[in-house]
Amino acid sequence: MRTEKTLTEFIIEEQRRLPAGTDGFTALLNDIRLACKRISYLIGKGALAGALGNAGTDNGQGEAQMKLDVLANDIFLRTNEWGGYLAGMVSEELDDPYVIPAQYPRGRFLLVFDPLDGSSNIDVNVSVGSIFSVLRCPDGVTEPTVQDFLQPGSQQVCAGYAIYGPATMLVISLGRGVHGFTLDREIGEFIHTHPNLTISEDTREFAINASNARFWEPAVKRYVDECLAGRSGPREKDFNMRWIASLVAETHRILMRGGVFMYPRDTKDPSKAGRLRLLYEANPIGFLIEQAGGRASTGYGPVLEEQPQDLHQRIGFIFGSRREVETLERYHQAHPGEFGNPLFANRGLFREQGAR
Ligand code: MN
Ligand code: MN
Repeated sequence: MRTEKTLTEFIIEEQRRLPAGTDGFTALLNDIRLACKRISYLIGKGALAGALGNAGTDNGQGEAQMKLDVLANDIFLRTNEWGGYLAGMVSEELDDPYVIPAQYPRGRFLLVFDPLDGSSNIDVNVSVGSIFSVLRCPDGVTEPTVQDFLQPGSQQVCAGYAIYGPATMLVISLGRGVHGFTLDREIGEFIHTHPNLTISEDTREFAINASNARFWEPAVKRYVDECLAGRSGPREKDFNMRWIASLVAETHRILMRGGVFMYPRDTKDPSKAGRLRLLYEANPIGFLIEQAGGRASTGYGPVLEEQPQDLHQRIGFIFGSRREVETLERYHQAHPGEFGNPLFANRGLFREQGAR
């Protein structure tokens, strides 16, 4: 019989060491865990749950919702709203912050999440996930507004994701390393199977959507060209490419065996400052990557130091093995494309249209 720690034991032990381990933090993580177990169950049923396909609705960011996007969002809201640990929530699937219903007590934390990441992959039975970030609600605030959620990623109390793959895993960081837990379906508990995950500094594997190559900035073009040149090129080694188009699955691969992921800002649609969302994708994933010794960047600087301007703000996101990301940052310094121009960044000439 395996006797590794359960997630509950792990959280309680961590809580004893952390200042954040008050105000119901353990109970909040237990509820997040339950939400992920509920979603895992639903995903695992596949077509049998009758929940595949499009919902026929839109998430407010112009993206079609799958039925499972809507269901997973409801599960996150219902499972986390009642416990009294949260002052508010923000979801990829909701335009505005979710107000905790009046019959429930308010707590000291804010929960920000992508209930189902990679959902366009759901109908082809490829790994998907949930991503979450826990922030402190500013002191004295009981009805948090948009402004209260706009905290840099470095302020996160906890971040993590669930991956619904052949096995369901929960990977979290409370700011003291990154820990992976595997769902034991028989006993219904997450077991601490992957303590202290670290990312190797070097890699021979990169991931990027190469169909956007003609829109890349010069720094990204140079980096990928050099990887593709292989052993006879300036890098003097052969690289492999991977692309799953599911942020959680890409992150998990990089935590397991290294690699570099790029979804840089590009010129395809100047109104979009990247593809991935800062608050509930880049920040929680960036927190895990940095806690595992990797690096998370916009290409121009640390993603966790970005001051968010908007709940659904998009950002260029590059992360993974430290030395590779540093190389990419050097190339961005050497070849600052239009997005590296401080005037562009400060004035936000092309700030996302219809931002909310
Ligand atoms: Mn997502
Ligand atoms: Mn999603």
